[in-house]
Amino acid sequence: MFKKIMIANRGEIAMRIIRCCQEMGIDTVLAVSEEDRDSLPAQFATETVCIGPARAAESYLNQPALITAAKASGCEAVHPGYGFLSENADFAQAVSENGLTYIGPSADMIRGMGDKQSARALMKKHGVPVVPGSDGILKDAAEARKVAEKVGYPVLVKATAGGGGRGMRTAFDSSEIEDAYREAQAEAEAAFGNGDLYLEKLIVHPHHIEVQILGDQNGHIVHLGERDCSMQRRNQKLIEEAPADILTKQQRADLCRAAVRAAKAVRYVSAGTVEFVLDHEGNFYFIEMNTRIQVEHSVTEMVTGIDLVKEQIRIASGQDLSFRQSDVKLRGHAIECRINAEDPARNFAPCPGPVPFVHMPGGFGVRVESALFSGCRISPYYDSMAAKIIVQAPGRLDAIRKMRMALEEMTVEGVTTNINFLYLLMFHHDYMLGNFDTSFLGTHTERILKWDRESRGKKK
Ligand code: ADP
Ligand code: ADP
Ligand code: MG
Repeated sequence: MFKKIMIANRGEIAMRIIRCCQEMGIDTVLAVSEEDRDSLPAQFATETVCIGPARAAESYLNQPALITAAKASGCEAVHPGYGFLSENADFAQAVSENGLTYIGPSADMIRGMGDKQSARALMKKHGVPVVPGSDGILKDAAEARKVAEKVGYPVLVKATAGGGGRGMRTAFDSSEIEDAYREAQAEAEAAFGNGDLYLEKLIVHPHHIEVQILGDQNGHIVHLGERDCSMQRRNQKLIEEAPADILTKQQRADLCRAAVRAAKAVRYVSAGTVEFVLDHEGNFYFIEMNTRIQVEHSVTEMVTGIDLVKEQIRIASGQDLSFRQSDVKLRGHAIECRINAEDPARNFAPCPGPVPFVHMPGGFGVRVESALFSGCRISPYYDSMAAKIIVQAPGRLDAIRKMRMALEEMTVEGVTTNINFLYLLMFHHDYMLGNFDTSFLGTHTERILKWDRESRGKKK
Protein backbone atom coordinates (compact mmCIF):
# COMPACT_ATOMS: atom_id res chain seq x y z
CA MET A 1 0.00 0.00 0.00
CA PHE A 2 1.09 3.59 -0.63
CA LYS A 3 2.78 5.48 2.19
CA LYS A 4 2.11 8.96 0.87
CA ILE A 5 -0.27 10.36 -1.74
CA MET A 6 -0.90 13.77 -3.23
CA ILE A 7 -4.41 15.18 -3.40
CA ALA A 8 -4.80 17.38 -6.48
CA ASN A 9 -8.06 18.93 -5.41
CA ARG A 10 -9.77 21.07 -2.76
CA GLY A 11 -12.93 21.49 -0.69
CA GLU A 12 -15.11 18.65 0.50
CA ILE A 13 -13.59 16.00 -1.76
CA ALA A 14 -10.10 16.82 -0.45
CA MET A 15 -11.43 16.32 3.10
CA ARG A 16 -13.08 13.07 2.04
CA ILE A 17 -9.81 11.70 0.64
CA ILE A 18 -7.70 12.92 3.60
CA ARG A 19 -10.02 11.22 6.10
CA CYS A 20 -9.88 8.01 4.12
CA CYS A 21 -6.07 8.12 3.96
CA GLN A 22 -5.80 8.75 7.69
CA GLU A 23 -7.89 5.67 8.28
CA MET A 24 -5.65 3.67 5.95
CA GLY A 25 -2.42 4.96 7.54
CA ILE A 26 -1.40 6.89 4.41
CA ASP A 27 0.22 10.35 4.65
CA THR A 28 -1.27 13.09 2.50
CA VAL A 29 0.22 16.01 0.64
CA LEU A 30 -2.44 18.54 -0.26
CA ALA A 31 -1.77 20.75 -3.28
CA VAL A 32 -3.22 24.16 -2.45
CA SER A 33 -3.57 27.43 -4.30
CA GLU A 34 -2.56 30.64 -2.51
CA GLU A 35 -6.27 31.17 -1.92
CA ASP A 36 -6.64 27.86 -0.06
CA ARG A 37 -3.65 27.98 2.30
CA ASP A 38 -5.95 28.22 5.35
CA SER A 39 -8.65 25.88 4.10
CA LEU A 40 -9.94 23.04 6.26
CA PRO A 41 -8.20 20.31 4.25
CA ALA A 42 -4.95 22.31 4.45
CA GLN A 43 -5.22 22.01 8.23
CA PHE A 44 -5.91 18.27 8.13
CA ALA A 45 -3.42 17.08 5.49
CA THR A 46 -0.07 15.75 6.68
CA GLU A 47 1.63 18.38 4.49
CA THR A 48 0.56 21.11 2.11
CA VAL A 49 2.38 22.48 -0.86
CA CYS A 50 1.41 25.65 -2.67
CA ILE A 51 1.14 25.08 -6.41
CA GLY A 52 0.15 28.54 -7.63
CA PRO A 53 -2.18 31.54 -7.44
CA ALA A 54 -5.92 31.45 -6.85
CA ARG A 55 -6.94 31.09 -10.49
CA ALA A 56 -7.49 27.37 -11.14
CA ALA A 57 -5.71 27.61 -14.48
CA GLU A 58 -2.54 28.53 -12.61
CA SER A 59 -2.93 26.12 -9.68
CA TYR A 60 -5.38 23.21 -9.65
CA LEU A 61 -5.04 22.86 -13.41
CA ASN A 62 -1.29 23.49 -13.44
CA GLN A 63 0.00 20.05 -14.37
CA PRO A 64 3.77 20.68 -14.21
CA ALA A 65 3.45 22.35 -10.80
CA LEU A 66 1.38 19.45 -9.44
CA ILE A 67 3.74 16.79 -10.72
CA THR A 68 6.85 18.59 -9.52
CA ALA A 69 5.26 19.01 -6.09
CA ALA A 70 4.22 15.36 -5.92
CA LYS A 71 7.71 14.17 -6.74
CA ALA A 72 9.51 16.67 -4.52
CA SER A 73 7.36 15.72 -1.53
CA GLY A 74 7.99 12.01 -2.00
CA CYS A 75 4.46 10.98 -2.98
CA GLU A 76 3.87 7.65 -4.69
CA ALA A 77 0.42 8.37 -6.06
CA VAL A 78 -1.95 11.20 -7.02
CA HIS A 79 -5.69 11.36 -6.33
CA PRO A 80 -7.45 13.83 -8.66
CA GLY A 81 -10.87 13.96 -6.91
CA TYR A 82 -13.63 15.26 -9.25
CA GLY A 83 -13.70 18.30 -11.52
CA PHE A 84 -10.33 19.98 -12.27
CA LEU A 85 -7.93 17.41 -13.80
CA SER A 86 -9.95 14.34 -12.84
CA GLU A 87 -10.91 13.51 -16.43
CA ASN A 88 -7.83 14.84 -18.14
CA ALA A 89 -6.07 11.98 -19.95
CA ASP A 90 -2.88 13.99 -20.48
CA PHE A 91 -2.59 14.54 -16.73
CA ALA A 92 -3.11 10.85 -15.96
CA GLN A 93 -0.43 10.06 -18.53
CA ALA A 94 2.02 12.64 -17.18
CA VAL A 95 1.52 11.28 -13.66
CA SER A 96 2.43 7.74 -14.76
CA GLU A 97 5.28 8.88 -16.98
CA ASN A 98 6.79 10.55 -13.95
CA GLY A 99 6.83 7.29 -12.04
CA LEU A 100 3.75 8.07 -9.93
CA THR A 101 0.53 6.06 -9.69
CA TYR A 102 -2.63 7.78 -10.90
CA ILE A 103 -5.56 6.88 -8.65
CA GLY A 104 -8.07 6.30 -11.41
CA PRO A 105 -8.29 4.56 -14.76
CA SER A 106 -5.51 4.61 -17.37
CA ALA A 107 -4.99 7.59 -19.66
CA ASP A 108 -6.26 5.50 -22.58
CA MET A 109 -9.50 4.70 -20.81
CA ILE A 110 -10.03 8.35 -19.86
CA ARG A 111 -9.31 9.38 -23.45
CA GLY A 112 -11.63 6.74 -24.90
CA MET A 113 -14.56 7.66 -22.67
CA GLY A 114 -13.85 11.40 -22.51
CA ASP A 115 -14.60 11.67 -26.17
CA LYS A 116 -18.33 11.18 -25.74
CA GLN A 117 -19.03 10.45 -29.37
CA SER A 118 -16.44 7.63 -29.55
CA ALA A 119 -17.68 6.24 -26.25
CA ARG A 120 -21.12 6.14 -27.77
CA ALA A 121 -19.86 4.28 -30.83
CA LEU A 122 -17.98 1.80 -28.65
CA MET A 123 -21.06 1.13 -26.49
CA LYS A 124 -23.19 0.59 -29.55
CA LYS A 125 -20.66 -1.96 -30.81
CA HIS A 126 -20.89 -3.83 -27.50
CA GLY A 127 -24.65 -3.98 -27.48
CA VAL A 128 -25.29 -1.26 -24.88
CA PRO A 129 -28.33 0.75 -26.02
CA VAL A 130 -27.45 4.35 -26.99
CA VAL A 131 -29.76 7.27 -27.80
CA PRO A 132 -30.63 7.30 -31.52
CA GLY A 133 -28.53 9.96 -33.23
CA SER A 134 -25.53 10.72 -35.38
CA ASP A 135 -22.77 8.25 -36.26
CA GLY A 136 -19.64 10.23 -35.58
CA ILE A 137 -18.90 13.93 -35.44
CA LEU A 138 -21.18 16.27 -37.40
CA LYS A 139 -19.45 17.96 -40.34
CA ASP A 140 -21.61 21.08 -40.21
CA ALA A 141 -25.07 22.44 -39.41
CA ALA A 142 -26.41 21.00 -42.66
CA GLU A 143 -25.48 17.50 -41.53
CA ALA A 144 -27.05 18.18 -38.14
CA ARG A 145 -30.27 19.06 -39.96
CA LYS A 146 -30.13 15.86 -42.00
CA VAL A 147 -29.58 13.62 -38.97
CA ALA A 148 -32.26 15.49 -37.00
CA GLU A 149 -34.77 14.85 -39.76
CA LYS A 150 -33.89 11.17 -39.74
CA VAL A 151 -34.18 10.62 -35.96
CA GLY A 152 -37.02 13.13 -35.57
CA TYR A 153 -37.28 16.33 -33.51
CA PRO A 154 -36.72 17.32 -30.76
CA VAL A 155 -32.96 16.75 -30.76
CA LEU A 156 -29.98 17.62 -28.62
CA VAL A 157 -26.74 18.87 -30.18
CA LYS A 158 -23.89 17.89 -27.83
CA ALA A 159 -20.18 18.61 -27.52
CA THR A 160 -18.08 15.47 -27.74
CA ALA A 161 -15.74 17.00 -25.14
CA GLY A 162 -18.66 18.19 -22.98
CA GLY A 163 -18.95 18.05 -19.21
CA GLY A 164 -20.69 19.80 -16.33
CA GLY A 165 -23.85 20.20 -18.43
CA ARG A 166 -22.11 22.54 -20.84
CA GLY A 167 -21.87 22.50 -24.62
CA MET A 168 -25.35 21.17 -25.38
CA ARG A 169 -28.38 22.79 -27.01
CA THR A 170 -31.86 21.54 -27.89
CA ALA A 171 -33.69 22.07 -31.17
CA PHE A 172 -37.44 21.46 -31.13
CA ASP A 173 -37.89 21.86 -34.88
CA SER A 174 -35.90 22.54 -38.02
CA SER A 175 -36.04 26.32 -37.47
CA GLU A 176 -33.90 25.89 -34.33
CA ILE A 177 -31.24 23.50 -35.57
CA GLU A 178 -28.80 26.05 -36.97
CA ASP A 179 -28.82 28.18 -33.81
CA ALA A 180 -28.47 25.08 -31.63
CA TYR A 181 -25.48 23.97 -33.65
CA ARG A 182 -23.83 27.38 -33.59
CA GLU A 183 -24.39 28.01 -29.88
CA ALA A 184 -23.27 24.53 -28.78
CA GLN A 185 -20.17 24.86 -30.92
CA ALA A 186 -19.26 28.29 -29.54
CA GLU A 187 -19.80 27.16 -25.94
CA ALA A 188 -17.79 23.96 -26.44
CA GLU A 189 -14.99 25.84 -28.17
CA ALA A 190 -14.78 28.31 -25.27
CA ALA A 191 -15.15 25.77 -22.45
CA PHE A 192 -13.20 22.77 -23.78
CA GLY A 193 -11.15 24.12 -26.69
CA ASN A 194 -12.91 21.58 -28.90
CA GLY A 195 -16.01 22.49 -30.89
CA ASP A 196 -16.75 19.00 -32.26
CA LEU A 197 -20.43 18.12 -31.96
CA TYR A 198 -22.68 15.09 -32.25
CA LEU A 199 -26.43 14.77 -32.11
CA GLU A 200 -28.88 12.72 -30.07
CA LYS A 201 -32.63 12.52 -30.07
CA LEU A 202 -33.86 14.50 -27.08
CA ILE A 203 -35.54 12.01 -24.77
CA VAL A 204 -38.45 14.05 -23.46
CA HIS A 205 -38.63 14.36 -19.67
CA PRO A 206 -36.40 11.40 -18.88
CA HIS A 207 -34.96 10.20 -15.62
CA HIS A 208 -31.19 10.46 -15.32
CA ILE A 209 -30.12 7.13 -13.90
CA GLU A 210 -26.51 6.11 -13.44
CA VAL A 211 -24.77 2.97 -12.27
CA GLN A 212 -21.71 2.92 -10.01
CA ILE A 213 -18.96 0.63 -11.24
CA LEU A 214 -15.75 -0.60 -9.63
CA GLY A 215 -13.10 -2.56 -11.49
CA ASP A 216 -9.72 -3.83 -10.26
CA GLN A 217 -6.51 -4.48 -12.18
CA ASN A 218 -7.19 -8.20 -12.27
CA GLY A 219 -10.29 -7.86 -14.40
CA HIS A 220 -12.98 -8.04 -11.69
CA ILE A 221 -15.81 -5.65 -12.45
CA VAL A 222 -18.81 -5.13 -10.17
CA HIS A 223 -21.69 -2.67 -9.99
CA LEU A 224 -22.94 -1.05 -6.79
CA GLY A 225 -26.46 -0.35 -7.94
CA GLU A 226 -27.89 2.83 -9.40
CA ARG A 227 -28.61 6.43 -8.48
CA ASP A 228 -31.44 8.66 -9.65
CA CYS A 229 -29.99 12.11 -10.42
CA SER A 230 -32.97 13.60 -12.22
CA MET A 231 -33.24 16.61 -9.93
CA GLN A 232 -31.07 18.85 -12.09
CA ARG A 233 -30.98 22.55 -12.76
CA ARG A 234 -29.63 23.34 -16.21
CA ASN A 235 -28.26 19.79 -16.59
CA GLN A 236 -26.44 20.08 -13.26
CA LYS A 237 -27.34 17.76 -10.43
CA LEU A 238 -28.79 19.16 -7.21
CA ILE A 239 -30.33 16.16 -5.42
CA GLU A 240 -29.33 12.54 -5.92
CA GLU A 241 -30.72 9.36 -4.44
CA ALA A 242 -30.11 5.64 -4.31
CA PRO A 243 -31.77 3.40 -5.24
CA ALA A 244 -33.93 4.78 -8.10
CA ASP A 245 -37.43 4.00 -6.89
CA ILE A 246 -38.87 4.34 -10.39
CA LEU A 247 -37.19 1.12 -11.58
CA THR A 248 -38.80 -2.29 -11.41
CA LYS A 249 -36.65 -5.19 -10.25
CA GLN A 250 -36.29 -6.36 -13.84
CA GLN A 251 -35.34 -2.90 -15.14
CA ARG A 252 -32.76 -2.53 -12.36
CA ALA A 253 -31.20 -5.87 -13.24
CA ASP A 254 -31.13 -5.02 -16.98
CA LEU A 255 -29.66 -1.56 -16.38
CA CYS A 256 -26.93 -2.76 -14.03
CA ARG A 257 -26.08 -5.60 -16.42
CA ALA A 258 -25.77 -3.11 -19.30
CA ALA A 259 -23.48 -0.92 -17.18
CA VAL A 260 -21.22 -3.85 -16.34
CA ARG A 261 -21.15 -4.77 -20.04
CA ALA A 262 -20.11 -1.18 -20.82
CA ALA A 263 -17.31 -1.30 -18.23
CA LYS A 264 -16.14 -4.71 -19.42
CA ALA A 265 -15.98 -3.41 -22.98
CA VAL A 266 -13.13 -1.12 -21.93
CA ARG A 267 -11.76 -3.44 -19.19
CA TYR A 268 -12.47 -0.62 -16.80
CA VAL A 269 -10.25 -0.10 -13.74
CA SER A 270 -11.12 2.09 -10.68
CA ALA A 271 -14.42 3.78 -9.77
CA GLY A 272 -16.53 4.93 -12.67
CA THR A 273 -20.11 5.76 -13.51
CA VAL A 274 -22.18 4.74 -16.50
CA GLU A 275 -24.91 7.33 -17.12
CA PHE A 276 -28.24 6.57 -18.79
CA VAL A 277 -31.48 8.36 -19.56
CA LEU A 278 -34.69 6.42 -18.93
CA ASP A 279 -37.75 7.31 -21.01
CA HIS A 280 -41.41 7.04 -20.03
CA GLU A 281 -41.78 3.64 -21.65
CA GLY A 282 -39.03 2.24 -19.45
CA ASN A 283 -36.36 2.15 -22.19
CA PHE A 284 -32.90 3.23 -21.13
CA TYR A 285 -30.07 4.62 -23.23
CA PHE A 286 -26.38 5.12 -22.47
CA ILE A 287 -25.33 8.81 -22.52
CA GLU A 288 -21.78 8.83 -21.14
CA MET A 289 -19.30 7.30 -18.75
CA ASN A 290 -17.58 9.37 -16.06
CA THR A 291 -14.10 8.00 -15.40
CA ARG A 292 -13.68 9.35 -11.84
CA ILE A 293 -15.26 9.48 -8.41
CA GLN A 294 -18.46 11.55 -8.56
CA VAL A 295 -19.89 14.15 -6.25
CA GLU A 296 -22.84 11.87 -5.52
CA HIS A 297 -20.79 8.73 -4.76
CA SER A 298 -21.79 9.11 -1.10
CA VAL A 299 -25.40 7.96 -1.58
CA THR A 300 -24.10 4.67 -2.97
CA GLU A 301 -21.77 4.31 0.00
CA MET A 302 -24.68 4.83 2.37
CA VAL A 303 -26.83 2.07 0.87
CA THR A 304 -24.02 -0.42 0.19
CA GLY A 305 -21.75 0.25 3.17
CA ILE A 306 -18.77 0.21 0.76
CA ASP A 307 -16.14 2.97 0.95
CA LEU A 308 -15.59 3.91 -2.69
CA VAL A 309 -12.55 6.10 -2.08
CA LYS A 310 -10.86 3.33 -0.11
CA GLU A 311 -11.56 0.89 -2.94
CA GLN A 312 -10.11 3.37 -5.45
CA ILE A 313 -6.88 3.60 -3.47
CA ARG A 314 -6.67 -0.17 -2.93
CA ILE A 315 -7.26 -0.82 -6.63
CA ALA A 316 -4.59 1.71 -7.66
CA SER A 317 -2.10 -0.05 -5.41
CA GLY A 318 -2.78 -3.31 -7.25
CA GLN A 319 -5.06 -5.02 -4.75
CA ASP A 320 -8.17 -6.92 -5.72
CA LEU A 321 -11.62 -5.61 -4.90
CA SER A 322 -12.30 -6.35 -1.25
CA PHE A 323 -15.68 -7.97 -2.05
CA ARG A 324 -17.59 -9.78 -4.80
CA GLN A 325 -20.79 -8.85 -6.63
CA SER A 326 -22.75 -11.30 -4.47
CA ASP A 327 -21.56 -9.45 -1.34
CA VAL A 328 -23.19 -6.19 -2.47
CA LYS A 329 -26.46 -5.79 -0.55
CA LEU A 330 -28.50 -2.60 -0.67
CA ARG A 331 -29.97 -1.27 2.56
CA GLY A 332 -32.66 1.38 2.73
CA HIS A 333 -32.72 4.65 0.83
CA ALA A 334 -30.20 7.49 0.69
CA ILE A 335 -30.65 11.09 -0.49
CA GLU A 336 -27.99 13.75 -1.03
CA CYS A 337 -28.56 17.51 -1.22
CA ARG A 338 -25.84 19.77 -2.60
CA ILE A 339 -25.59 22.91 -0.47
CA ASN A 340 -24.37 25.71 -2.73
CA ALA A 341 -23.33 29.24 -1.77
CA GLU A 342 -25.71 30.81 -4.27
CA ASP A 343 -28.80 32.98 -4.27
CA PRO A 344 -31.86 31.23 -5.72
CA ALA A 345 -33.68 34.58 -5.84
CA ARG A 346 -30.97 36.07 -8.07
CA ASN A 347 -30.94 33.32 -10.65
CA PHE A 348 -28.73 31.18 -8.42
CA ALA A 349 -25.80 33.58 -8.70
CA PRO A 350 -22.78 32.45 -6.63
CA CYS A 351 -22.48 34.12 -3.21
CA PRO A 352 -18.90 33.79 -2.00
CA GLY A 353 -17.66 35.52 1.14
CA PRO A 354 -16.70 35.12 4.77
CA VAL A 355 -18.63 32.62 6.89
CA PRO A 356 -18.41 33.73 10.52
CA PHE A 357 -20.43 30.79 11.82
CA VAL A 358 -21.58 27.37 10.66
CA HIS A 359 -23.46 24.58 12.35
CA MET A 360 -23.63 21.16 10.69
CA PRO A 361 -26.53 18.79 11.25
CA GLY A 362 -25.97 15.34 12.71
CA GLY A 363 -27.71 12.36 14.23
CA PHE A 364 -28.56 8.82 13.21
CA GLY A 365 -28.33 8.34 9.45
CA VAL A 366 -27.13 11.90 8.76
CA ARG A 367 -23.76 12.49 7.08
CA VAL A 368 -22.22 15.83 6.12
CA GLU A 369 -19.30 16.21 3.73
CA SER A 370 -17.92 19.74 3.74
CA ALA A 371 -14.85 21.90 4.11
CA LEU A 372 -16.75 24.68 5.89
CA PHE A 373 -15.87 25.81 9.40
CA SER A 374 -16.78 28.84 11.49
CA GLY A 375 -14.52 31.64 10.33
CA CYS A 376 -13.78 30.23 6.88
CA ARG A 377 -14.22 32.05 3.57
CA ILE A 378 -16.03 30.74 0.51
CA SER A 379 -13.82 31.62 -2.42
CA PRO A 380 -15.17 33.31 -5.56
CA TYR A 381 -12.59 31.41 -7.63
CA TYR A 382 -14.09 27.93 -7.45
CA ASP A 383 -17.32 25.96 -7.61
CA SER A 384 -20.02 27.23 -5.26
CA MET A 385 -20.78 23.80 -3.78
CA ALA A 386 -20.01 24.21 -0.07
CA ALA A 387 -21.38 21.05 1.52
CA LYS A 388 -23.30 17.87 0.89
CA ILE A 389 -25.87 16.50 3.29
CA ILE A 390 -26.51 12.80 2.88
CA VAL A 391 -29.19 10.95 4.80
CA GLN A 392 -30.08 7.30 4.95
CA ALA A 393 -33.29 5.75 6.26
CA PRO A 394 -35.30 2.55 5.74
CA GLY A 395 -37.53 4.04 3.02
CA ARG A 396 -37.62 7.04 0.68
CA LEU A 397 -40.20 9.00 2.68
CA ASP A 398 -38.28 8.40 5.91
CA ALA A 399 -35.19 9.71 4.15
CA ILE A 400 -37.06 12.82 2.96
CA ARG A 401 -38.26 13.46 6.51
CA LYS A 402 -34.72 13.08 7.83
CA MET A 403 -33.39 15.44 5.15
CA ARG A 404 -35.93 18.10 6.20
CA MET A 405 -34.65 17.90 9.76
CA ALA A 406 -31.03 18.08 8.64
CA LEU A 407 -31.65 21.09 6.38
CA GLU A 408 -33.56 22.81 9.16
CA GLU A 409 -30.65 22.28 11.52
CA MET A 410 -27.90 23.39 9.15
CA THR A 411 -26.79 26.98 9.67
CA VAL A 412 -24.45 28.92 7.41
CA GLU A 413 -24.07 32.57 8.38
CA GLY A 414 -22.65 35.35 6.24
CA VAL A 415 -23.45 34.04 2.77
CA THR A 416 -26.67 33.21 0.95
CA THR A 417 -27.22 29.51 0.26
CA ASN A 418 -29.78 27.28 -1.41
CA ILE A 419 -30.63 25.56 1.92
CA ASN A 420 -34.13 27.01 2.11
CA PHE A 421 -34.76 26.18 -1.54
CA LEU A 422 -33.78 22.54 -0.89
CA TYR A 423 -35.90 22.51 2.26
CA LEU A 424 -39.00 23.58 0.34
CA LEU A 425 -38.26 20.96 -2.32
CA MET A 426 -38.42 18.31 0.39
CA PHE A 427 -42.07 19.31 0.91
CA HIS A 428 -43.01 19.37 -2.75
CA HIS A 429 -45.88 16.97 -3.27
CA ASP A 430 -44.67 15.62 -6.59
CA TYR A 431 -41.13 15.14 -5.35
CA MET A 432 -42.46 13.29 -2.32
CA LEU A 433 -44.56 11.01 -4.52
CA GLY A 434 -41.64 10.32 -6.82
CA ASN A 435 -43.30 12.23 -9.68
CA PHE A 436 -40.17 13.90 -10.95
CA ASP A 437 -37.86 13.72 -13.95
CA THR A 438 -35.08 15.93 -15.34
CA SER A 439 -37.64 18.63 -16.22
CA PHE A 440 -38.82 19.00 -12.61
CA LEU A 441 -36.64 21.91 -11.51
CA GLY A 442 -37.08 23.75 -14.82
CA THR A 443 -40.85 23.58 -14.33
CA HIS A 444 -41.17 24.15 -10.58
CA THR A 445 -38.35 26.52 -9.62
CA GLU A 446 -40.42 29.72 -10.03
CA ARG A 447 -43.22 28.34 -7.88
CA ILE A 448 -40.79 27.23 -5.17
CA LEU A 449 -39.12 30.65 -5.17
CA LYS A 450 -42.56 32.18 -4.65
CA TRP A 451 -43.16 29.94 -1.61
CA ASP A 452 -39.76 30.94 -0.39
CA ARG A 453 -40.62 34.66 -0.58
CA GLU A 454 -43.97 34.05 1.08
CA SER A 455 -42.51 32.00 3.91
CA ARG A 456 -39.87 34.65 4.58
CA GLY A 457 -42.55 37.36 4.48
CA LYS A 458 -44.56 35.55 7.14
CA LYS A 459 -41.60 35.11 9.40
CA LYS A 460 -40.96 38.87 9.47
P1 ADP B 1 -21.02 14.80 -11.01
O1 ADP B 1 -21.82 15.80 -10.29
O2 ADP B 1 -21.85 13.77 -11.66
O3 ADP B 1 -19.88 14.26 -10.25
P2 ADP B 1 -20.30 17.02 -12.62
O4 ADP B 1 -20.30 17.01 -14.10
O5 ADP B 1 -21.29 17.87 -11.93
O6 ADP B 1 -20.38 15.52 -12.23
O7 ADP B 1 -18.82 17.41 -12.17
C1 ADP B 1 -18.33 17.34 -10.86
C2 ADP B 1 -17.66 18.63 -10.49
O8 ADP B 1 -16.73 19.00 -11.45
C3 ADP B 1 -18.64 19.76 -10.30
O9 ADP B 1 -18.31 20.44 -9.12
C4 ADP B 1 -18.43 20.62 -11.53
O10 ADP B 1 -18.50 21.98 -11.19
C5 ADP B 1 -17.03 20.28 -11.96
N1 ADP B 1 -16.94 20.18 -13.40
C6 ADP B 1 -17.30 19.19 -14.19
N2 ADP B 1 -17.05 19.45 -15.47
C7 ADP B 1 -16.50 20.66 -15.50
C8 ADP B 1 -16.01 21.50 -16.51
N3 ADP B 1 -16.02 21.14 -17.78
N4 ADP B 1 -15.51 22.68 -16.18
C9 ADP B 1 -15.48 23.06 -14.90
N5 ADP B 1 -15.92 22.32 -13.89
C10 ADP B 1 -16.42 21.14 -14.18
P1 ADP C 1 -22.28 16.07 -19.13
O1 ADP C 1 -21.02 15.47 -19.69
O2 ADP C 1 -22.30 17.53 -19.23
O3 ADP C 1 -22.62 15.50 -17.79
P2 ADP C 1 -24.40 14.37 -20.23
O4 ADP C 1 -24.31 13.77 -21.57
O5 ADP C 1 -24.20 13.47 -19.07
O6 ADP C 1 -23.40 15.61 -20.17
O7 ADP C 1 -25.80 15.11 -20.08
C1 ADP C 1 -26.10 15.94 -18.98
C2 ADP C 1 -27.60 15.88 -18.71
O8 ADP C 1 -28.35 16.30 -19.86
C3 ADP C 1 -28.12 14.49 -18.40
O9 ADP C 1 -28.00 14.20 -17.03
C4 ADP C 1 -29.56 14.56 -18.85
O10 ADP C 1 -30.36 15.16 -17.86
C5 ADP C 1 -29.50 15.49 -20.04
N1 ADP C 1 -29.39 14.74 -21.31
C6 ADP C 1 -28.26 14.35 -21.93
N2 ADP C 1 -28.52 13.69 -23.07
C7 ADP C 1 -29.87 13.67 -23.18
C8 ADP C 1 -30.78 13.17 -24.17
N3 ADP C 1 -30.37 12.57 -25.28
N4 ADP C 1 -32.11 13.37 -23.96
C9 ADP C 1 -32.54 13.99 -22.86
N5 ADP C 1 -31.75 14.49 -21.91
C10 ADP C 1 -30.42 14.34 -22.06
MG1 MG D 1 -23.07 13.54 -17.33
